[in-house]
Amino acid sequence: MAWSVNGIGVGDKLALGRAWVLAPASLDLPRRQLQAQQIAPEIARFHAAVGRIDQEFTDLREALGQEPAAEVRAFLDLQAHVLRDPILIDETVARIESESCNAEWALIQQLAEVTAQFDAIDDPYLRERKADVQQLVERILKSMQGVGDLSTTLEQTAQSEGALPWILVAKDIAPADMLLLRHHQFAGFATDSGSPTSHTAILARSLGLPAVVGMNSLHGLVEQGEEIVLDAAAGVVMGSLDEELRAHYSDQQASQQLAMERLKRLRGIEAKTLDGERVLLQANLDLPEDAAAALEAGCDGVGLFRSEFLFMNRADAPSEDEQAAAYGSVVRAMAGRPVTIRTLDSGADKTVAALAAGRSEPTNPALALRAIRLCLAEPELFLTQLRAILRVSAEGPVRIMVPLVSGPSEIILARRMIQTAMQQLEAKGTAFDRRIAVGAMIEVPSAAIAIDGLLAHIDFASLGTNDLIQYTLAIDRTDSEVAHLYEPLHPAVLRLIRDVIRACDKSGTPISLCGEMAGEAELCRLLLGLGLRQFSMHPVELLRVKQEVLRTRASDLIKPVARLLRLPDPKKIRSGLEQLNGQ
Ligand code: PEP
Ligand code: MG
Repeated sequence: MAWSVNGIGVGDKLALGRAWVLAPASLDLPRRQLQAQQIAPEIARFHAAVGRIDQEFTDLREALGQEPAAEVRAFLDLQAHVLRDPILIDETVARIESESCNAEWALIQQLAEVTAQFDAIDDPYLRERKADVQQLVERILKSMQGVGDLSTTLEQTAQSEGALPWILVAKDIAPADMLLLRHHQFAGFATDSGSPTSHTAILARSLGLPAVVGMNSLHGLVEQGEEIVLDAAAGVVMGSLDEELRAHYSDQQASQQLAMERLKRLRGIEAKTLDGERVLLQANLDLPEDAAAALEAGCDGVGLFRSEFLFMNRADAPSEDEQAAAYGSVVRAMAGRPVTIRTLDSGADKTVAALAAGRSEPTNPALALRAIRLCLAEPELFLTQLRAILRVSAEGPVRIMVPLVSGPSEIILARRMIQTAMQQLEAKGTAFDRRIAVGAMIEVPSAAIAIDGLLAHIDFASLGTNDLIQYTLAIDRTDSEVAHLYEPLHPAVLRLIRDVIRACDKSGTPISLCGEMAGEAELCRLLLGLGLRQFSMHPVELLRVKQEVLRTRASDLIKPVARLLRLPDPKKIRSGLEQLNGQ
């Protein structure tokens, strides 16, 4: 009998594959039912893992020499004691036998019993040792699985062979980890937490891979290696497929691939509506190597280069030369097409170790010292980046885009820093484009509402709808519990977009949209009807949006879209939009 778990789909593709369950550094691992002949090897596997950890502590004790500090000795003694504790070790073995279950599961159940005993202890020192026991159990679990960390997973999945590709199933994947996964062949991702516009989901989309996020309970249910189907359009993951279902999904997957192949014919065609309106379709890049896919899709340049990903998975910040090399490679690849480099947008769900050090964890990361606020607080880091961007502006058309601008003061200060960076380069005789365009992301409601005050200070603007929706609707875009309330079609959001486009058009300021909305073909007519003529999206989405542009008469959209914006309710707007898309 097939099982299914619902979540929120990212993209509309599907993947058929084997689940690779990424063990988190937590105690949440699935139960496996064993056959009688599997029990003895399972117990041996458990003992071997305990032995390995025991050996690790013996080695550590030896390395510390004769006289380790008292607290270190106490710690090592406790670990040695726990590793021989019959309640934890013998009872785990007994449970594997009596319940025919995997060792990980049995151990986790035993841990619950042990920790309950700790909770009952009056002595606060001993009660605190509960955490040590938990950590020890985690070490055993990781040792048993060999999949405790991402790098082991990557090695193992790369080495494994099989008819079906892997689908990664995890409790959560941090954006930095997602970057590491880019070079590995996963067919899709499913996570218990997250929402469709978290940066993890954005990175999955940029890989053209289907994902389902906010699944809550999948991670504990699916078994390692189990065949599953991940249907992003329906936002569902299914397992225990029968022949009929398997055939149905492989047919569907084949026809999706065929449709993608057909779309490739549009690559060389200019994006123009039926009434001759040219629409710029630019690419969002997360790393320089994405430029190839963007060109392959026929992009009109780069509308958003998320420079912060260069700063992740490392302890230090990249040097000016390293950044200039990365930005320069994109500028050269784009061969004269404009490249919009967004200055470091760290913070919220994008952690940059070099900047986090020495700072306390913010209570509300999305509202904290992030993006331009952080850059202004770290002038040396900001100047280094600005010099790197300016240097590559000598090689082709480059624009500087400032994230999370809330009003004129930040852009005025950013411009001052750009001036300083220019003076520093001039002093060294380094070439750059003195007239480089400087723009703002419009992603904070205050910037959208008071856009008129910003226009005098910027050369272009780009609507960052991912954050604009988050801040307008007070929905944390990374929180799966409120993901269902994240609504791009909320009239408040659409009216803000409309007003920003209008104000920019009136003042002759180029306006683009680079949030996830730009890449959703179903929203293309709505945005065209609001007057948008510059879209920036993941390269994988570009041809579908182009197809939509090519079949649309822009002048026919103005009145119906204006009517949609007068509707009070997103549901009504959605059904009106479906009608408009069907015409
Ligand atoms: C946005 O907020 O819409 C955006 C494009 O930037 P990011 O998703 O990186 O915050
Ligand atoms: Mg943003």
